[in-house]
Amino acid sequence: MSTFVLATHNAHKVQELRAILGDRLGPHELIGYDGPEPVEDGTTFAENALIKARAAAEHTGLPAIADDSGISVGALGGAPGIHSARYAGTRVDADNVAHLLEQLQGVTDRAADFQCAAALVDGGFEHVELGIWPGSVLTAPAGAGGFGYDPVFRPEGLEVASAELTAEQKNAISHRARAFGALIGVLRERYG
Ligand code: IMP
Repeated sequence: MSTFVLATHNAHKVQELRAILGDRLGPHELIGYDGPEPVEDGTTFAENALIKARAAAEHTGLPAIADDSGISVGALGGAPGIHSARYAGTRVDADNVAHLLEQLQGVTDRAADFQCAAALVDGGFEHVELGIWPGSVLTAPAGAGGFGYDPVFRPEGLEVASAELTAEQKNAISHRARAFGALIGVLRERYG
């Protein structure tokens, strides 16, 4: 049995991850991380996830898991991407959503993906998995679930915003579910 530290200060993400991982963690334990946050100066989701996992692993001496995620809009050249959390200049979800809708005013190609990089770092061992959830940006917010851009993201194949899905529905198909589903396989192979 091993203890893993989860390097995120975002309460929504901790909640989603616990729900996503559930029984799949097997005998292992996941604890929160309250150490110093590193400067996320990577240029990709994968680099930033690794930076966060490395910092938590170094600080605690435990194997560490971290993620970095966001929304990438094709018509905006992949923006906001790694800058999703502060796209509007604040960390306020409603501001970010409003700013995104403004940038896409009059734009018909609204294809977008949610992306999540999930990293595992244990000493010299480093592994990253990328999960992609394709969809498009709606023209107005809908639904009250989830967080961030969920009210304006319509997952491919569905007729609703991801904020209109139940937590169980979202956690079965999201970018985070895809990335961590793959990472948990690697973790279980390595630690049993
Ligand atoms: P991070 O905390 O650096 O990974 O930034 C993630 C940001 O991307 C969040 O603040 C949200 O704005 C956005 N984001 C990531 N995942 C989701 C999701 O599942 N739903 C909605 N927004 C998300």
